[in-house]
Amino acid sequence: MRILNYQRMSTEDGPGLRTTLFVKGCPLRCAWCHNPESIDGASSVEWIKVRCMGCHSCISSCKRGAITAEAEGIKIDSDKCERCFTCVEACPTGALERRGEEASVETVFGELIKDKAYFGAQGGVTLSGGEIMLQSQEVAELLKMLKDAGISTAVDTSGFCKREDLERMLPYTDLVLYDLKLADNTRHEKWTGVSNERILENFEYLDEIRRSTRPDLGLWVRTPIIPEATDDEDNIRALARIVRDRADRWELCAFNNLCRDKYERTSKDWVFKEAGLMTRGQMQRLVEAAQDEGAKNVIYTGKTRLEELSDD
Ligand code: SF4
Ligand code: SF4
Repeated sequence: MRILNYQRMSTEDGPGLRTTLFVKGCPLRCAWCHNPESIDGASSVEWIKVRCMGCHSCISSCKRGAITAEAEGIKIDSDKCERCFTCVEACPTGALERRGEEASVETVFGELIKDKAYFGAQGGVTLSGGEIMLQSQEVAELLKMLKDAGISTAVDTSGFCKREDLERMLPYTDLVLYDLKLADNTRHEKWTGVSNERILENFEYLDEIRRSTRPDLGLWVRTPIIPEATDDEDNIRALARIVRDRADRWELCAFNNLCRDKYERTSKDWVFKEAGLMTRGQMQRLVEAAQDEGAKNVIYTGKTRLEELSDD
């Protein structure tokens, strides 16, 4: 498997206390992506500003000329980089880090099972990305091992995958976390780089499965509420007409910019770096708009501007 990292004691990726495994590689290019380091399927190099003393040893160590010193700091050109990690070795302060590794399914299982003691009755393991469906064969094997060990499983997917990838892992999955971002296909293509047709077809398929053979399969829909991208009432009303009462929970996730540093580390620009938080009123109005269209079990999550002010 191509993995990024393990997040232990997670409370945001399903019920109870969980360990979330993030994998590398994603076919979408969401402009607001909060895990930009997971997009690239291969291992990559990150630059950590606070550790850098500006010695430029990394630049001279790179035979590909992929590293430059810019006004904002060290930049790594991922198109030129051949992932040799010589620069990581050459950096005297640990300011360059390798992100991502390959691991066998057995090794990943061995890491996850260590946390079984704190899962309790509700918690478990969530597999997230990147897009886990890109590694569906290995992920299905891992899910089966977890289920055989008595661990509750959740998968977090964009839904942009082949039907057979979903079919492969559903027998070993207790909960699907499913992203629905934009109902309008033109807007979906603009903001994520892909069409939403397959995503909506797979959502229908999940609904059919839940109504027929798998009434026990949990389904949580998640919609990122991104300023001036997905946060308009028209979008939420249109999504509500798709979701209706077909999810156990529909979470409107308020935008935050906590990932700003990740963009700096990966030498990427981010169009939302100056965007502010949503207000509590905006989020509540979107929940009400969804409910007005007949959607059930709608909530909003995430920090709004009001909480941020009260923290100051
Ligand atoms: S990993 Fe290798 S090719 Fe990539 S930036 Fe570092 S030294 Fe250059
Ligand atoms: S080698 Fe390390 S400390 Fe020196 S400039 Fe490069 S990243 Fe900074």
